[in-house]
Formats: sequence, C-alpha cells, structure tokens
Amino acid sequence: MQDLDVYHRTESFYEDFLECRQLLAPFFGAQRLPLLLTASGSGAMEAAVTNFTNRDDSVLVVVGGKFGERWLKLCQAFGCKIKVLNVAWGNAPTPDEVTKQAEGTRAVFFQANETSTGAFFPVEGICRSLRSSGYNGTIVVDAISALCAHPIAMDNWGIDCVVSGSQKGFGVPPGLAFVGLSERADSLFSTRERFYFDLRLELKGQAGGRSAFTPAISLILGLKTALHAMHQGGGIQAVFDHHLRLATAARASCYAMNLKLFAEHCPSNALTAMTVPAGIDGSQLLKSILQNDDAILAGGQDELKGKIVRLAHLGFIDRLDLVSGIAALEFGLQAKGHKFELGAGVAAAMAILK
Ligand SMILES: *Cc1c(COP(=O)(O)O)cnc(C)c1O
Repeated sequence: MQDLDVYHRTESFYEDFLECRQLLAPFFGAQRLPLLLTASGSGAMEAAVTNFTNRDDSVLVVVGGKFGERWLKLCQAFGCKIKVLNVAWGNAPTPDEVTKQAEGTRAVFFQANETSTGAFFPVEGICRSLRSSGYNGTIVVDAISALCAHPIAMDNWGIDCVVSGSQKGFGVPPGLAFVGLSERADSLFSTRERFYFDLRLELKGQAGGRSAFTPAISLILGLKTALHAMHQGGGIQAVFDHHLRLATAARASCYAMNLKLFAEHCPSNALTAMTVPAGIDGSQLLKSILQNDDAILAGGQDELKGKIVRLAHLGFIDRLDLVSGIAALEFGLQAKGHKFELGAGVAAAMAILK
C-alpha cells in the first residue's frame, strides 16, 4: 500500500513549506518571507504581543470592535501598560488620532479590517502618518480578514508586523497563522520569556523550510494549492479586483433593499455589514433565513447583537454565492415586513457582477 503519511522532516516538505512562504509574501507586500505558525489567527496575535513587548511597556491599542478588544485583552494578559484609542463601532480611526496617541509608546496595535463591524481602517494613511511624525516604535497590524481583500504593503508603508490566518481570505481550513515581519524586526524583539511562539527561532528554522514544532502538514499542502490558484490568471491584482467587485455589488444591493450600510464611511471589501431596520430583530431574521433557505448569514455581536447582518465576500466566494446570499436576505426581510421591492437587491448586485 502506498504510504499516505507525509513526514515534515524531508527535503520535499521543506520545499512545499518554502513555496507557501514565497507565494504568501506578495499579499504582505514584504521582502522578508512571512512565517507560518500552527495556530488560529489569534495565535499570531499573541506571538506579536509577546515578541514585540515586554511587561510594563507602554502600548497603544485601537479598539473599534470585537477584534480590537482582542488586542486589548492580549496586551492586558501580558502586562503591558495600555493606552486605548476607542473608536465608535462601525467607524475607523483617523491617522491623526492614532499618531497623536502613539507618541511615547513602544508599539501600536490595530486592525486592518474590523470583521465584527465591516469597517476597513486606513492602514496606509495611519502608517505613513506615524512614520512621518518620526514614530519609531513597532507597528503591528491584524490583517487576518484583510489579506486578499485589500492590498497591504508592509515595506512601503513601514509596518513591522502583519498577522493573518488561513481560513479567511485564503479559503483554507482554520489552523495556520501567518506573521509578516519587517527587515528591522530583529532589532525590535522583546526580551521576555516565550516558548511556543518564538519568532526569532522560527526565522532561523523557516529560512530552510523547517518549523520549530510539528506543523499542520495537511493545511500547508492545502495552502500551497490555494495560493497557486490565486497566483494563476490575473495574479494577485485579480484577487483584489474580484473582492472589490463583490463588495461594490454587496453595497449596491444594500441600498437597493432599502437598508443602510453599517460602516458606511469605511466599508470593507471583505464583508458588508448592513443595519437591520428598526422594528426587526436581526437575530430572528437570521434564524428565519437559516430555517427557510438553509443560508447562514452572520449577525452582530455584543452591542451590535440583533442590529446588523454581515454578508461575507472573502476567499473563494464567487458571484453566484453572493447573489444567493442576497436573495436569502431578501426573502427574510420580506417575511419580516420590511418595505422594499423584492428582487431589487439581487438586480442591483447582478448589474455590477455581469
Ligand atoms: C477571525 C479574526 C481573528 C481571529 O482569528 P482566529 O483564527 O479565530 O483566532 C482576529 N482578527 C480578525 C480581524 C479576524 O477577522
């Protein structure tokens, strides 16, 4: 019988591992090849906090939703002195605000895409503003749901660390986390104790395709296939164009269904959050869509529970998936008595996707 087991301490697997790092790099906009970690995206967030801060270091955390809160909890767990820049959910921080607050801190943590609200933060503007003000600390960006939907240019914009994961834009099952690092990252590493997520060790080993611990082999092989698919055809620019087109269609459908865009000043290309009309309970709406059409749309969490619906258009979602999601939402809205012309959302989206 053929041996189906893939052993990771082999030249052939080292090559697969390195190929994934190389194919990922353009999504980070970094010369330095991103590191692969076996963890969900939050593992890479933790690695960023432990590798770039010491206890009692002063840090700035931008909180504009659930994932900003995760940065906050991580920095608390690891004993940082935290300044919080609170942003109303659904909004984005301005480059000026971030730059003013960042003064004197060792590191700044924020999201590219705040998945809980559908807001995209002006990453380029924030980073350029920080660097032109002379900010010399570590800039860390959570791009877990942003990579593939938005171009990120670490080296150009002066970002030191970008974290991401396998299951959002890359359409691979959960379990792999990615860490992009700047050239100067070596001089920014903290001295605190760490073990599983030691990026200094990973940098050394992964240069030869060797991770410090047993990697999620099956996911790495799946990632290689997914990355090859994304680099084919129009290359990664086509991936960004595709997400922009789906996002534009989703926003048009939102207005056509007589709904408001939740993050209307800074909508993401990864997902579209729509405000549920007053008088309709969003949780009930999603339940009825699931029951009647077996379609899963995401709702809001915490303060946004029952108030928004989130339509994903990230990863290997195609135009037909998006149109059927919009149709399911239309059926649901009509059943709940929302006033709009049935089919208008689908028509608006199709006109853009044709
Ligand atoms: C999904 C997500 C995370 C968390 O990633 P896990 O893989 O669930 O640990 C963090 N940040 C953002 C912006 C996300 O979308």
